Amino acid sequence: MEKLTQEKTLVLIKPDGIKRGLIGEIIRRIEQRGLKVIALKMIQVTEGQIDGHYPKDAAWTHRLGEKSLGTYSKYGIDPVEALGTDNADEIGKMVRSWIVKYLTSGPLVKMVVEGVHAIDMVRKLCGNTLPNLADMGTIRGDYSVDSPALANSGKRAVHNIIHASENPEEAKHELAYWFTPQEIHDYKRAEEDIMF
Ligand code: GDP
Ligand code: MG
Repeated sequence: MEKLTQEKTLVLIKPDGIKRGLIGEIIRRIEQRGLKVIALKMIQVTEGQIDGHYPKDAAWTHRLGEKSLGTYSKYGIDPVEALGTDNADEIGKMVRSWIVKYLTSGPLVKMVVEGVHAIDMVRKLCGNTLPNLADMGTIRGDYSVDSPALANSGKRAVHNIIHASENPEEAKHELAYWFTPQEIHDYKRAEEDIMF
């Protein structure tokens, strides 16, 4: 079994995060928690690469569509008027295609972050997917006010600065997808002996 101190998660700083000069701030927040960056690279990716990064199963796309429908219902927007359909699967596919465009619109920074409960800890640092709902003190809450209602009206993905694996299955897929084992490093942070 993997050591509890060595749980790994994948982080992408998205093109808006790069263009807004937030690389250093994001890494600072990760390191401040005692989490360790063990692989790091800036890349320009293709639409095909992003297509393979996000899950393709119907349940994931459906969930994405449901999220938009939830937003529309909350703000009294008619999905048929806005997007031409109220079918969650169709809307999910639309949103997925916008994400692919968003993540290929400029370079990304990809990294592997390791530490105690790294997956949940990094998600906590990110905050809610939708910046308008993200708590202050989180990366998305502190640096963005984008909302799904606004993003959908522009037929684009919500700009939320950072991607982080949601669960162990996603982390396993994404780590192997973006890095070879040789590109992932092992070192000890100075404070490990004192913190744990
Ligand atoms: P994450 O794991 O927090 O990134 O969220 P998801 O996996 O649910 O969604 C993937 C990405 O799709 C998000 O990071 C956003 O960039 C985008 N996104 C999610 N929900 C919506 C939505 O309702 N509308 C739009 N336009 N984009 C969305
Ligand atoms: Mg996700």
